[in-house]
Formats: sequence, C-alpha cells, structure tokens
Amino acid sequence: MADKHDHMRSDTAVIARGYDPALSVGSARPAVFRSSTYVFSSPEAAERAFDIIGGRAQAPAGERTDLVYSRFNHPNAEILEDQIVPLEKGAHAAAVFNSGMAAIMTAIVTFAKPGDRIVYTVPLYGGTQHFIHEFLEPFGITGTAVRAGETPRLEDAIRSTPDVRMVLIESPANPTLVMTDIRSACRAAAALMVRPLVLVDNTFLGPSFQHPLECGADVVLYSATKYLGGFSDLLGGVALTRDPELTRRIKSRRGLFGNILQPDECWILDSRLPTVHLRMNRASKNAQRIAEKLAGHGALKRIYYPSLIEDAEQCRIRDAQCDYPGAIISLDLKDGKPAAFEFLRRLRLARNAVSLGGVETLVCHPKSTTHSSVSKEELEISGVTDGLVRISVGIEDWRDLLTDFEQALTGL
Ligand SMILES: *Cc1c(COP(=O)(O)O)cnc(C)c1O
Repeated sequence: MADKHDHMRSDTAVIARGYDPALSVGSARPAVFRSSTYVFSSPEAAERAFDIIGGRAQAPAGERTDLVYSRFNHPNAEILEDQIVPLEKGAHAAAVFNSGMAAIMTAIVTFAKPGDRIVYTVPLYGGTQHFIHEFLEPFGITGTAVRAGETPRLEDAIRSTPDVRMVLIESPANPTLVMTDIRSACRAAAALMVRPLVLVDNTFLGPSFQHPLECGADVVLYSATKYLGGFSDLLGGVALTRDPELTRRIKSRRGLFGNILQPDECWILDSRLPTVHLRMNRASKNAQRIAEKLAGHGALKRIYYPSLIEDAEQCRIRDAQCDYPGAIISLDLKDGKPAAFEFLRRLRLARNAVSLGGVETLVCHPKSTTHSSVSKEELEISGVTDGLVRISVGIEDWRDLLTDFEQALTGL
C-alpha cells in the first residue's frame, strides 16, 4: 500500500492509504478486529510468521505474513500505523501504544541499556522525568539534564557525556513553551563517533506545526491522548521513525511488554487522524488571537506564547522549526496563587482540568497539579510560579473564550 500512495500529499494520504476495503468485506470504514488470536493459513505460514516475529527472518516489502496474536500485532494497529505515517513529515514507520508514557518508555528501553547515558532537556513531561529518576537511574541508565533552550550547553553535553546513547528533547517545554533547537542537537549527535539517537517528544506542536524527523531526529514520540486523539476520550501513544528498522526494534519490545494499543482504541484514533490538521490549525488560530488580545492585561505579570516571544535566540529557534505557534498559552498572574485560583473558579466556558489538545478549552494550575511533585529548584528552572495557569485552547469560537478569560481576569 505504501508505495502506491507515496506521491500523495499528507492530507490525502492520511485518508487514502493504509486501508484496503477488500480485507473487510468491502466496508468503507475499517472494521474492528477484536480477536486475540488469528487462524493460520497453513502450518508453514505459522512457522514463517513466528520466524518474523522472533527476528529470525525479515519479511520483504509487500509480503503479507499471517497475523499471530494481538499482543504482537493486529489489523487495527496495522491500519492505524499505516495511516498515521503520512501525518509526520519524514516518517516511514510507526508503532502505536496504549499511552504516551508507554511509547516513551518503550522507545527509551529499546535503545538504552544499563551503563548508557541519556542527555535530556528539562523540564520534561512529569511522567517522563519520574521515569528517568525512579526507573532508569536505579536500572543503571543515568541522565544528564540540560535546561530547555540552551543551545550551546546542549551541544556541549552531547559532546562531553561519556557513553551517551540517547538525546531526549521536549520542545516547546511545558508550561513556559521554551524552545530547544532540534537541528543543532542532531548535528552535535551526528558528529560523534558512535552517534546517539535523538528522540523528540513532539506532543505540543506536532504533527502539524513541528517536524523533528526533518530536522534530523531519529524518533518522534507522541501522547496521542492529546491532539491526535483530540477529544479527551482516549489514551494512546505513538513512536515514529525515519528508519523502519528502528520501529521494528521498538515493536519487538512492545510485544514483550504487552503495551500495544487495543483494537477499539486504534479504531477510534484512526477516525480522528483526518481532522488533526483542521483541529490544530483552528486551535492555534484561536490561541494566537486570544494571546495577542490578553498581552499587556493589567492582571498579568507575564504571558507565554510563541508569537509573543521577545528573546532573539528563542525567536530564531521558533522561526527555524515551528510553522505555527500552537494552542497552549500560559499566564502568570501578578497576585500569585490566590489570583490564579480565583481565575480558575470564575471560568464559565473553559474547564479546570489537566491534559491538553482536546476540542474543548482546558485550564490548570501547574504548580499545585501537574508539577506538584517537582523540586523547588526544578520549579524555578521550569518557570512554574504560584501565579501561573496553563490554557489549552480548543476549537470553540475564540471570541467567546476571550470574553470568558477577560471576565475571569477582571479586578484580579
Ligand atoms: C501527556 C503527555 C505525555 C504522557 O502521555 P500519556 O498519554 O498521558 O501517557 C507525554 N509527554 C507530553 C508532552 C504530554 O503532554
């Protein structure tokens, strides 16, 4: 299927490729295959399928091997993986997982072993940060943290960390949207004798507005729970690579861990893919209008939004790697926590919840929720203050959202 549709543009390919109605009794939309096991066409075909799963043989492109057992693979995962590839510029293969954390941890432990070192940007998503401290470090994989956005320091850390196996970047950082230069990190990695893999958590701006594989990264990671899913009604994760061999290795670990995305969830996520660009574009336009109207509001100490950045180096990174500013805005309220909490209590349209990337607008107070177990020093590095609220702008009419935020800020 892939070859036939390689010439298509992404918005067409995401609909047209990866699904063959003939394999689902002509159904125009994919069926859900909930079977846990698959009947072999012959004992020889079963042997061949196990040789391929066990890594003893490689299927040439186009060979249709028998399915085996749904922890390894199932039709809805295959359809979803084929359909998601065109959304990520530069990707040739994908693996889907039952959460973003499952994708992140499986990719990391596929390529790093005890004794290896990881260089990573901070702040990272809380779960990823905990995974490094509470699992990888006791396991013998140690990390070197570099503050997001510090281009020369990140290059230095990549060059000078012995046995560096992997570079993990999250850009823009949560919740202050500080951007890290992906290209420069990839160049520093490529200059080493043993090239570390560069992994990028692209949840905040991808797949529509930031394309790490085109910047030289090896693996792009997603919490599909966010913009890909888009409706705050499923958990999922994705790893995408330029080199299909890397995805093959990730899938082999996934088969051991048993964290493949289940058929029903694959089907739901699959139905959301054709609207990812529509939803993200609308949410980004909404957010840009709202952020530019709120900038300079008397109740705010600071507003964080990519189109309002002033720092020259941050502007350079943004212009080099981001197509549009995205739909996350953070507000730092002058009167600290009481003002932030009052703002949350007063909201009528936007809802007070963690998570992001849904069609509905969500607002949270990171210091007391998503970042509550982060140390004081790390909070300072991350810019998470008492007065900070993070807004994930949805696809409502931006004027109604602006009215809601303005009434909630009045007199604070
Ligand atoms: C939500 C999120 C994750 C974790 O994803 P889950 O689907 O909740 O496991 C990882 N990285 C980022 C940037 C996120 O926003």
